[in-house]
Amino acid sequence: MEQRKHLTWKEALAQSYRSVEDISKVMRLTEAEKSKMADIIKRYPMCVTPYYFSLIYADEKDGPIFRMAIPDVNEFTEGGEPDTSGEYQNTVITGMQHKYRQTALILSTDRCAMYCRHCFRKRMVGGGGDEVAKYLPAMAEYIKSHREINNVLISGGDAFMNENATIEKYLKYLVPLKNLDFIRFGTRMPVVLPQRITDDHGLLSILEKYGKQKKIYIITQFNHPRELTPESVAAIRALHEVGCSIRNQTVLLRGVNDNPDTLALLFGELTMQAVHPYYVFQCRPARGVKNQFQLPLKKGVKIVDEAKSKMNGQAKAFRYCMSHKTGKIEILGQAPGQEDFMLFKYHQAKEDRDASRIFAQRVDDDQRWLDEIDEVG
Ligand code: SF4
Repeated sequence: MEQRKHLTWKEALAQSYRSVEDISKVMRLTEAEKSKMADIIKRYPMCVTPYYFSLIYADEKDGPIFRMAIPDVNEFTEGGEPDTSGEYQNTVITGMQHKYRQTALILSTDRCAMYCRHCFRKRMVGGGGDEVAKYLPAMAEYIKSHREINNVLISGGDAFMNENATIEKYLKYLVPLKNLDFIRFGTRMPVVLPQRITDDHGLLSILEKYGKQKKIYIITQFNHPRELTPESVAAIRALHEVGCSIRNQTVLLRGVNDNPDTLALLFGELTMQAVHPYYVFQCRPARGVKNQFQLPLKKGVKIVDEAKSKMNGQAKAFRYCMSHKTGKIEILGQAPGQEDFMLFKYHQAKEDRDASRIFAQRVDDDQRWLDEIDEVG
């Protein structure tokens, strides 16, 4: 596949592979594959930066990087939901959700530098403008008047797809709010387009300026050790140099990182770069995602536990969680002496009555999600 060469981030983005014609220049595809891919792209857009594409090994179809970037015909198979964690119900102002007492979540854009094939917001990325935030003053007013909110996650899409002026506008409105302890940006730019960070001193100086007034966290998503390259490490260092802290959420994905050695290597290397592992997420049953990427819960917990046995305390300071309509539920493992049951615990609950609740639930060997949850565990 093609050689990696230096481009500025806007040039790299402009040269991303978005159509069958684009991708055919760098990948051999049969006419049948081209026609299937064209159908998928119409429904779920593709965008692969030349940088991220260069991480795919030559002739490696179906490898981890390939699976995360290149459309697959199975995205059309039946099943799955568009909105698996109840984002519509938690929306309080267009583009802003308030599900957990202390946290406001803003969908600041529907654009990403790469449309990850496993994205749980597949319903809106690349074309879901109706769900994107529009009224920043109203959102700031809401946050100010809800004193229990002490942090905001500016997400999307990818928060760093916004122009610098937009990013600064968010910070201008949010940084002065006294109830906010810190602000988070959700971005995969360090992974898929690190030049967005290393080439853009404007962005870095905005983060540095506002970060002196209010702590800024970057929430990113490395899923495989091959994503940690000299370029991505340079982006991580640049963010650290301007005072940001970085935390990582990994999604457990079939055919990508469903291997204890892969996870242990990834988390060890992230920790070395002071990118703190924060969550491992069970892949959600999102439409267009679940059939290719979800793993059974019992298998997931085995992989995660074996991976943890290979990690030091820093690397395994994460929780293996399911982001459910009712809250973030930690997947604890097999219930003692009850092969059919697993134990779960609410890490973040939507309703106060569930806070920190531990419960046991019958789980089939192939079960990948909890659709219904018993009221009494
Ligand atoms: S960068 Fe994030 S929001 Fe965008 S497609 Fe990937 S996982 Fe989804």
